[in-house]
Amino acid sequence: MDRDIGFVLKSTAYQERDLIISLFTEKKGKISAIARNGVQSRRFGGSLDFFLASEFEMDPKSIRLADATDEALIQLLSAQPKHSIRGVAKSLEKLSAGSCMNELLLRTLPPSRAAVEMFKLYSNALTAMDENEDSRAIMILNAFILKLAQWLGVQPALTRCASCSKMLTEIDGEFVRPIVSKGAWICMSCKAEGGEATRFTISRPAIADALLAMSSPIRKIEWVGSSVEHRVFLEYLEQHLAFFVAGMDKELSSTRFLKSLPPL
Ligand SMILES: [Zn+2]
Repeated sequence: MDRDIGFVLKSTAYQERDLIISLFTEKKGKISAIARNGVQSRRFGGSLDFFLASEFEMDPKSIRLADATDEALIQLLSAQPKHSIRGVAKSLEKLSAGSCMNELLLRTLPPSRAAVEMFKLYSNALTAMDENEDSRAIMILNAFILKLAQWLGVQPALTRCASCSKMLTEIDGEFVRPIVSKGAWICMSCKAEGGEATRFTISRPAIADALLAMSSPIRKIEWVGSSVEHRVFLEYLEQHLAFFVAGMDKELSSTRFLKSLPPL
């Protein structure tokens, strides 16, 4: 019998009583699984809830979905909740930010390949959300996106102005202008070539947080930007991913909800 720790990223009812689940597991990475009778069964208790690590028992004989890829439908036999991170599901901000992380993982993780670094990051990001106040949820999400971008090899270059090369601490003013196609920003004293700069500006504190996010563990970041500044920064990060990552061109449905919540 195979055992693996994992999180449910997505769950869909199938033929009334079964659940088809996208799991992010420690050893197998992102997999598709079926929980027979998962809608009511006591075997699964609360273990199929979102944002909760559970230990899954899996049938080693999986149903092959496609011969060309390694994709298979794995049968879940039972599951036990492990570390319960209950706070995420109880706050709208955290729930929305957590849903964004799930959507991002569903779109970017390769199927059936262990992604241990991302698994730890996801788990730590949920813990960080659980430990912090609601207004931090969006900051943790932004840090998660930056680290995901690093993992995908498409991190933005945020240390200095892409035009005059001044560091963030040396530039004039409190804002910078992002240039999505370059994955970079320019200071307000520099002019973009060919009108490629975006219409919006990002605050210096949000960039400072982003720099810290790319070099520190997600639970150790001391944020200086406000949640409003981070909403703007999330907008930029979405455009960044859409530009640099295949399959990310569609807007994330979960961020729309996050952005419509009243600012904290
Ligand atoms: Zn400049």
